[in-house]
Amino acid sequence: MTASVELRVYAELNDFVYPEARYAAQLRPIRPHQTVKDIVEAAGIPHTEVDLMLVNGESVDFGHHPQPGDRLAAYPMFETLDIGPLTRVRPRPLRDPRFIVDVNLGGLARLMRLMGLDTRCDWAADDAALAATAAAEHRILLTRDHGLLKRRAVTHGVLVRSDRPFEQIVEVIRRLDLADRLAPFTRCLRCGGVVTEVAKQDIIDRLEPLTRHYYDTFRQCPDCGRIYWSGSHQRRLDDLVARIRTAITPA
Ligand SMILES: [Zn+2]
Repeated sequence: MTASVELRVYAELNDFVYPEARYAAQLRPIRPHQTVKDIVEAAGIPHTEVDLMLVNGESVDFGHHPQPGDRLAAYPMFETLDIGPLTRVRPRPLRDPRFIVDVNLGGLARLMRLMGLDTRCDWAADDAALAATAAAEHRILLTRDHGLLKRRAVTHGVLVRSDRPFEQIVEVIRRLDLADRLAPFTRCLRCGGVVTEVAKQDIIDRLEPLTRHYYDTFRQCPDCGRIYWSGSHQRRLDDLVARIRTAITPA
């Protein structure tokens, strides 16, 4: 008979396991060299989604080697369950969250910047480059690609489940509890830089005649130079911010 451990996964981690194993303990084969991380990933769960691992009720880190017959429990990254004094699998949480999005999440990146969240998006980056940047800059990687989160370099990642940008931003804010960190209209939508006030005379030669005539207050991105003002698009953006705020507020 093959040696095995019992694995139980909680809350949204159940999305990753096959239907028969959801919300129930499953037996997983174990080989002598395997760690809890190996077992969790072999069950289809990206390790970046797991925040707390228990073995026989004791919290352990990913490198722990369980023994046949052990009971493993995996809790998701952002489960609101009170885990009190238990040690989380990562050394420390990311206090000032910064993000990098996968290349197919450009719409989400724009909305995150609109809401003031530090969000990087590199159109030309491949999976290895994304994972490396996330690790080097301590950014939380947002992706719809399960496989990308399994890369070893990725320590903080979130699998985005919805496929529409509006639902994605709501999902990310709610799951990561970012509502108190929002600061709409403080970042450049194009590159994510922090925009600052700029004197009209300093940029006047770059303005269209009508803009020059009707507006006096401008902000500029120091990183890419883009200029912002409260033009005709502002009402639409205000509406969008208001809709996001409504959607993230618990009913
Ligand atoms: Zn910019």
